Amino acid sequence: MSQEHVKLLIIGSGPSGYTAAIYASRAGLNPVLVTGGEPGGQLTTTNDVENYPGYPDGINGPQMMVDFQKQAERFGTDVRYGMVTKVDFSTYPHTVWTDGGAELTAESVIISTGASAKYLGLESEKTYANKGVSACAVCDGFFYKGMNVAVVGAGDTAAEEATYLANLCPKVYLIVRRDEMRASKIMQERVLNTPNIEVLWNTESEEVLGDDSGVTGVRVVNNKTGDKKELDIKGFFVAIGHKPNTDIFKDWLDMDETGYLNVQSGSTKTNVEGVFATGDASDRIYRQAVTAAGTGCMGALDAERFLAEKEFETANATQTV
Ligand code: NDP
Repeated sequence: MSQEHVKLLIIGSGPSGYTAAIYASRAGLNPVLVTGGEPGGQLTTTNDVENYPGYPDGINGPQMMVDFQKQAERFGTDVRYGMVTKVDFSTYPHTVWTDGGAELTAESVIISTGASAKYLGLESEKTYANKGVSACAVCDGFFYKGMNVAVVGAGDTAAEEATYLANLCPKVYLIVRRDEMRASKIMQERVLNTPNIEVLWNTESEEVLGDDSGVTGVRVVNNKTGDKKELDIKGFFVAIGHKPNTDIFKDWLDMDETGYLNVQSGSTKTNVEGVFATGDASDRIYRQAVTAAGTGCMGALDAERFLAEKEFETANATQTV
């Protein structure tokens, strides 16, 4: 096993990890970034990104992440492909192990491991991924302007996505598996008062239908009556929750019941000194590339201040001795 000491370790390679890397490398912190299992993160599963400022004609998601990486490497970020498999935050400096057999000690750590959208698990969902099946209405809804769509789920995200899409699409079906919604009352009222949203209660999706052009419909079944029908839609939005990629931190870091890391208000500081959380791993509300990039910048600035204070303390302690 190889051993190495680093000043700053960034875990994750989405917009927040790379933004943290750009700021940290420009500040001379020589960050090492471990990409994770899906280099580039969630944006690599998106075709066109049209809501990231600075790209007037939009940009292809995977290309955008290649550009983020190049920008980070230009200033000296050491990008390593692989997964962090284990951490120990009980001692300082912190220790991190990777699947490549490396043991790294780090004076500071920025966690940018992101979150993964949950899917229903249908084979047809995979077939039409990025061809009509999406887990983000704010990202992809615009491509379905003027077309009928369906949203699956009954939480705040599904309610928000349905109302967002109702501004763009003539008809939005909201597919709810029970006879009630979990979403907050105000969100439910908004859904029920939007004339072009039709809620299908006690309904489950059996199969996403499509052809070479992408999604053309979904077959749903009423789980009380057994009645089946096909909805004529072009976009199928799955909004049944996200799972933050934070399992390996659960012994050390405060997180909520879903796994989102808790950070101090207005900062990226976790409950462990020198460990910062950015992007979707600590954001259950916004979950956008641009907000992830914003908190990535915050993480780098927080880490830089932390390291400067540590250095000052160490220098003072040496002088006192
Ligand atoms: P939630 O976990 O709150 O809701 C998930 C929904 O998906 C539930 O209604 C659940 O149904 C449904 N679901 C789960 N699995 C399936 C399945 N296999 N088939 C059909 N339906 C399924 O996730 P959200 O993403 O909606 O919200 C996460 C958190 O973020 C919540 O705390 C929410 O309040 C918060 N949030 C806040 C927002 C805001 O304040 N603006 C916006 C968005 C989210 P069932 O109810 O039957 O279990």
